[in-house]
Amino acid sequence: MTTENRYIHNALKQVRLHAACSSMQGFSISGLATYLQFPEMNFCVDMGECPLSATPIDHVFLTHAHGDHARCIMRHNSLRKMMGVERDSVYYIPESIYEGAKAWIKAEAMFEGVNESKFRYPELEPVKAGTRTPLRYRKDLVIEPFEVRHSVPAMGATIYLHKKKLLDEFLGKSAQEIIELRQKGVEITREVYDPQLSFMGDCMGESLLDHPEVFKSKVLVTECTFLDKDEEQMAHKKGHTHLKSIVHALKELGSEVKCEQIVLTHFSMKYSERHITETIANEIPEEFLEKVVAFI
Ligand SMILES: [Zn+2]
Ligand SMILES: [Zn+2]
Repeated sequence: MTTENRYIHNALKQVRLHAACSSMQGFSISGLATYLQFPEMNFCVDMGECPLSATPIDHVFLTHAHGDHARCIMRHNSLRKMMGVERDSVYYIPESIYEGAKAWIKAEAMFEGVNESKFRYPELEPVKAGTRTPLRYRKDLVIEPFEVRHSVPAMGATIYLHKKKLLDEFLGKSAQEIIELRQKGVEITREVYDPQLSFMGDCMGESLLDHPEVFKSKVLVTECTFLDKDEEQMAHKKGHTHLKSIVHALKELGSEVKCEQIVLTHFSMKYSERHITETIANEIPEEFLEKVVAFI
């Protein structure tokens, strides 16, 4: 292993990126750990490790139960308590693994010696594909999960910025006229849901074209576990994405790709930083290259 490899394999050494929807910091290497923090959105995807920087974050979404994504969920909860954060963080959990998550959380607390009569579940919220839910402490951000294909039940999601916009026919009106219309009870606004961030979690490459709407988000975070020519079958077998599938989706969708950034995560731990950047530069079609960033 080269020095360069050791650097990209240190889960507590965070990668930082200025993403178009929020800054983004965290770590994501397959099998080691994945946690992606979006501080300005008060949101974190997965908690495969829990550095101190994650403790102020109030909303955590768990994509699936694999340990390298899930294992520090309760560490996040207890670190916050230790540091005196009074507000309960909310953990959004796919409904298919909700009961299992509850059993696991309780078992962990019992293992740690918590008195059963004093045990209290953290704020767990089961989420369902296709249902939009405002984030508990950021009502302007609405999350909509969707199912993806992985080796176990797994979900990705899109976060929308929810706004009310003035209807076109009232655009030229003065403030006074608007107030009068409102007083008369005229509906002058329409609801707008502006997709800010989509993340796929762990999934097979086919999941991208199952949900082509993710390419309309400002930022798309998608896994890219495998890169090399002879690894397409392996990616399929393990329920992960090969770079070829991302290239295929980009070519298929062409000008329908509206993302400002496409962030690739979850590379296999066998690749070096250099191999990752060079392969991406060689494989991603020229017209998308500026948008694509490796999260390493
Ligand atoms: Zn994973
Ligand atoms: Zn997984």
